[in-house]
Amino acid sequence: DHGDSNAGNLRVKLVLLGDSGVGKSCIVLRFVRGQFDPTSKVTVGASFLTQTIALQDSTTVKFEIWDTAGQERYAALAPLYYRGAAIAVVELQKHGSPDIVLALVGNKADLQDKREVSVQNGNEYAEKNGMFFIETSAKTADNINQLFEVV
Ligand code: GDP
Ligand code: MG
Repeated sequence: DHGDSNAGNLRVKLVLLGDSGVGKSCIVLRFVRGQFDPTSKVTVGASFLTQTIALQDSTTVKFEIWDTAGQERYAALAPLYYRGAAIAVVELQKHGSPDIVLALVGNKADLQDKREVSVQNGNEYAEKNGMFFIETSAKTADNINQLFEVV
């Protein structure tokens, strides 16, 4: 949603979806406050935060970020519910705005010894579904700003 369309000032609604515990709230906290809190609490319902960044051409982008909870009992709060990435992607492509931008994020990239999805599989899945793919770590801040910039 590019609501305000002053050429140099964009407003973008961004929704984080994914299973509980994958690090959505930590990604937002890292991006918005530059912090990582390993004792952070489970998101209840959904939380809303904003952050504005300047791109290289000095365009500013204000992200209006909806950080959803992954629990089914909050399904009524999130019009699209999902039980796996593939379903979420189909829902978004069907019901999202036609120019929606999708990014597949592999978080916790700092935990290399616990890797569950290869970079190659992540890339292939994203490419097949018209999404960006990026691996991040909210803990080390690796690729967090890049995630939002690429989107
Ligand atoms: P959410 O349910 O998707 O919002 O997940 P949270 O942001 O609440 O994070 C769930 C757990 O994963 C917490 O214990 C975080 O400290 C941890 N976590 C989140 N991001 C990272 C990361 O990039 N690296 C590591 N090692 N742990 C993370
Ligand atoms: Mg959360």
